[in-house]
Amino acid sequence: MRLKEPFVIASQSIVECDHLICIVNTDSGVSGVGAVATIPAFMGETGETIEAAMIYLSDGMKGKDPFGIDRIVQQFDEQLPGNNSAKAALDLALHDLMGRALGLPVYRLLGGAVRHRIPLAWIIGLKSVKETVDEAVRKYQGGFKVIKVKIGHDDGEDLEKIRLIRNELGADALIRVDANCAYTADGGLRILSKLEQFDLELIEQPCRQADITGMRRLRQALQTPILADESVMSPEDALRIVMEEAADIINIKVGKVGGIAKARRIAAIADAGGLPIVMSGNLELGPGIAASAHVAASLKNARYATDIFVGGHKHFDDTILEGWGEEGMTIRVPEGHGLGVTVRPEFMPEAS
Ligand SMILES: [Mg+2]
Repeated sequence: MRLKEPFVIASQSIVECDHLICIVNTDSGVSGVGAVATIPAFMGETGETIEAAMIYLSDGMKGKDPFGIDRIVQQFDEQLPGNNSAKAALDLALHDLMGRALGLPVYRLLGGAVRHRIPLAWIIGLKSVKETVDEAVRKYQGGFKVIKVKIGHDDGEDLEKIRLIRNELGADALIRVDANCAYTADGGLRILSKLEQFDLELIEQPCRQADITGMRRLRQALQTPILADESVMSPEDALRIVMEEAADIINIKVGKVGGIAKARRIAAIADAGGLPIVMSGNLELGPGIAASAHVAASLKNARYATDIFVGGHKHFDDTILEGWGEEGMTIRVPEGHGLGVTVRPEFMPEAS
């Protein structure tokens, strides 16, 4: 799928995004559909590797009860470490299948909704100072009260962007920044300590994925809450962030962490550690956005605005029949059975 314009982050530039859709069929005739987007430099998986991993994992699903989701997810990890995007596609399809079999929306399988409308944030990729400020103003005037700005390419430009955006939008706008692993702790401290004067809502993933020590140093030195994204790919990563007090908030994406079951385990660890979460996305389309909305609806600590639907805005097209019913910069969690969305027939995989 082509994007309307290149989406550039500190680690990658995306012009086209591969999306994978899978269907899980049962002998009772009920099926479920899952989908993921690919961001290779973020996830370490390409469309080709995801497809191969899904086919490999699907062999072990044959003959299993889809309601044994925890056992199946455990088996995925035993069979093939990593490959979270491939596992997410299958996990989403299984949740869709369970909901359709019971005639319930997925959020009801997850303990019910604590909110039915999910507040949305807009993301601006790396672009020139003028383009960034113009887009922030346009989106803010269009109703987005939370603007996330990608940083980490040029400190001088980043400072200028955030200064001008705060100046243009005024004191009420929530401005968050995402460095996508761009800094060392020392380099990050130099620029982020200057950005803080413009009252940031949060700072996302300042240091490299493995640099938990650096992230903790920044957390101790800065006033702004630190959000861990790339550093939390698994429940084990989340536990380490909690134990080492390395971040204030944890970013969860169903595509990043391997699906809905893993997302909920991470949220439970964060909650036990007193940390809120931000639900977020990997530029997913229909089914991935729906899955993220069901998770966001069901978690009491998912109290930040989310960018889960941004993929739908940044692509020319979507894979589903439904619209999102955006209203007041929120989307409603789908009420249909399963994930509550219908993938358009031309995107449906052939039965095998
Ligand atoms: Mg991020």
